[in-house]
Amino acid sequence: MTLDAADVVVVGSGAFGASAAYHLARLGAHVAVLERAGLASQTSPRAAGLTSQVRASPALTRLARRAVAKLAAFTGETGEPLRFTQSGALKIARTERDAEQLTHEVARGGAAGVPIDFVSVAEARQRLPILGERDIVAVTWSPTDCNVEPSELPLGYCRAAEKLGAVLLPHTPATGFELGPRGVEGVRTPRGTIATRAVVDAAGAWARLVAASLGTALPVVPTRHQLLITEPIPGVGPEFPIARVIDANVYVRHERGGLMLGGYEPDPVQVDMAALPPSFDVAELPLDIEVLWRLARSVSAQFPIFQDPTLRVAEHRGGLPTITVDDRYLVGPLPGVAGAWVMSGCCVGGLSISPALGEALAEWIVDGAPALDLSEISTARFAGRELDEAELRERCRRAYATHYRASSEPT
Ligand SMILES: Cc1cc2nc3c(=O)[nH]c(=O)nc-3n(C[C@H](O)[C@H](O)[C@H](O)COP(=O)(O)OP(=O)(O)OC[C@H]3O[C@@H](n4cnc5c(N)ncnc54)[C@H](O)[C@@H]3O)c2cc1C
Repeated sequence: MTLDAADVVVVGSGAFGASAAYHLARLGAHVAVLERAGLASQTSPRAAGLTSQVRASPALTRLARRAVAKLAAFTGETGEPLRFTQSGALKIARTERDAEQLTHEVARGGAAGVPIDFVSVAEARQRLPILGERDIVAVTWSPTDCNVEPSELPLGYCRAAEKLGAVLLPHTPATGFELGPRGVEGVRTPRGTIATRAVVDAAGAWARLVAASLGTALPVVPTRHQLLITEPIPGVGPEFPIARVIDANVYVRHERGGLMLGGYEPDPVQVDMAALPPSFDVAELPLDIEVLWRLARSVSAQFPIFQDPTLRVAEHRGGLPTITVDDRYLVGPLPGVAGAWVMSGCCVGGLSISPALGEALAEWIVDGAPALDLSEISTARFAGRELDEAELRERCRRAYATHYRASSEPT
């Protein structure tokens, strides 16, 4: 299929691009979605699919609450399937410092209307019988957190956008941009140029490359993140809540009768997408399961089950989320190029926030302002503050390695 013109061209069909496209189409925009690979085939389907609503500030907590409400209503809203499990979430502090962080989170959640409170270790074990009792200082329980099947969300938004008139163009990369005195005028593809006044860079790990061809530097670093899923384990079921251990940066949840474990290593692999061939697919990303076993050993007192030598891994997957120096999303107009917008800096939390973030960005583009306050995650916070590459990487590494600490965006 070819296309001559669109109101908005969205580059990328992952969670960010697909949600932006759907919400733009719902507001009446004629949208084209360009995707260099298969639809929603790169980092998004490899996510863990966890949500977390109590965030670092009231504005971010409102955004995360809105996202969970939209996930719960997804099929009713879009007519597309989404496996949605409201399992709730436990958060575990093993140090006094982290227990204090939980005190703040309970207060913030209460103020924002997100149910969250401390529970005893015994109560936590009733909900999650595999939880070990040792070395736990405090635990919170948040009953409305949930998990979804990650591959279904962006595909569902793509299909729902199509029903509203959006044109989906898989295997069609954006190869360049026509820029005139009034900003964006078109997007070049191997099938021809699409005339447009607005572009959304939702290119995931490639977002920096897309921004660079629009003439702008984007301060994000694609960073490898992995998880494993075990073969089914007797007694493990979907009623098990999500569990996060703050200082270890490890999460565990049920999946397909087994357990999923993922986490944030101290020195993650950071990837320069410009150094990879244009045909690179996230499926080719080299993975290292020893990283996950190290993380599992670091929580052996709380999750002794991962030390069981009979445990078998059914799936090991990983992708390339984009990290920012302050571990917050990066959304809004690209500075210096009228008509260019970005949705990036997912910080390993993009899948679950995408319903609310895509909605807000669509309002920003079509109505001139989002209904929810995005100022804390706006591109404006980095305007005129370009970091050199070494410093950018080091600060993003630190943000990733301390993801569950107070200033972070928990996944
Ligand atoms: C193991 C793992 C666990 C995770 N767990 C969670 C979780 O529990 N909760 C959560 O919310 N998030 C989680 N995430 C993060 C989540 O996966 C990301 O935040 C999200 O997928 C980002 O979506 P995206 O649209 O930016 O990227 P992508 O899904 O990679 O989509 C970007 C798309 O842009 C396309 N593209 C790039 N360049 C071009 C071009 N020039 N032209 C056309 N198309 C282009 C790409 O091919 C790609 O399909 C996890 C990630 C991983 C890897």
